[in-house]
Amino acid sequence: MSEVHQLIHQKTFGHSELVQLLKVKGEERQLLFSRSAEIKLKEVGRQVYFRGLVEFSNVCSKDCYYCGIRKSNGAVSRYNLNDEEILHAAKLCYENNFGSMVLQSGEVSSPAFVDRIERLLKAIKLQTNNELGITLSLGEQSEETYQRWFEAGAHRYLLRIETSDHSLYRKLHPADHDFDARLACLKSLQKIGYQTGTGVMIGLPFQTVEHLANDLLFMQQMNIDMVGMGPYIEHAETPLYQYRDSLWNLDERFDLTLKMIAILRIMMRNINIAATTALQAIDPMGREKAIRIGANIIMPNITPGRYRNDYALYQNKPCVDEDPEDCMGCLDARIALADSDIGYGQWGDSPHFKRRNTAKQ
Ligand code: SAM
Ligand code: SF4
Repeated sequence: MSEVHQLIHQKTFGHSELVQLLKVKGEERQLLFSRSAEIKLKEVGRQVYFRGLVEFSNVCSKDCYYCGIRKSNGAVSRYNLNDEEILHAAKLCYENNFGSMVLQSGEVSSPAFVDRIERLLKAIKLQTNNELGITLSLGEQSEETYQRWFEAGAHRYLLRIETSDHSLYRKLHPADHDFDARLACLKSLQKIGYQTGTGVMIGLPFQTVEHLANDLLFMQQMNIDMVGMGPYIEHAETPLYQYRDSLWNLDERFDLTLKMIAILRIMMRNINIAATTALQAIDPMGREKAIRIGANIIMPNITPGRYRNDYALYQNKPCVDEDPEDCMGCLDARIALADSDIGYGQWGDSPHFKRRNTAKQ
């Protein structure tokens, strides 16, 4: 086995080397984090880019066993922001110079939903002089739908694979939620020309460090442009809650998430990596810690405050009692604490995407 101080200077890793890195402790852990921080600064710089996140509806047709807003959770009060509220949120992003926004919701694929998103995308583009970047995170859709939304103005799409392991995927979802269909969606998004993001949850029931090493290899093989990975956090009204006593503890999940981010930054040097909200749910400074060691994207929640409690994917989701205006001042201070600058008013595309596209021409 190689020494960790040699390993961190490699660009590609075998599965067992990744497992070794995921298990580092003490001084070796610090070595890993210093190396990923150094690579981040060299490849993507000090700037952190904002994507204002609007969780515009918690209506979902799916039943993922881990998710608090799954269709079968009757305890959730369902909401759907109206067009004006969504356009207002877009305006807020634009006026606060965020550069980009993310529209996220439960998965719905009815013709009315597809039409509505297309209409909203065009309206947002018009309202913001074509300047606001738009990321979608609306789950699995047909290639035709992805194409329509792309043409209407969306240019990034986030679709987490959740785990790259087929058999683990089956344990986390009902039988009609198909791993291969999700993978095919990712490929369609790439084919259409979206900046494509994926990611996994860390610390799921039945998940091992070996699975996580494969997840890292999966993201590299898929040549993805952006990643959002976060700790799995249990929710009492979901089927997976029964396994809560067999999980890694929250500190371990947090630590593994930081390591996944650091290792991926070493493997895929110029991609965009998000510091996800679930990190903040475990440690109030979680996102800042992720930024220091490799992440360069932050997604401030700009969903109107009164809806936030109803988008509870997991327990203790942070900032549920705030309004968008409260987030603004808080963020500047947080980014400064992470020794970084905010890339105001910029789309913040990943250099990886830009190079991939130049290579195609
Ligand atoms: N419905 C779309 C989808 O599933 O792709 C987008 C919204 S969904 C709520 C966004 C992400 O939330 C999922 O990809 C999943 O990784 C994450 N998520 C759901 N339940 C979670 C939990 N209990 N802990 C951490 N993340 C969770
Ligand atoms: Fe629906 Fe997404 Fe939650 Fe699955 S993870 S239940 S698709 S909102």
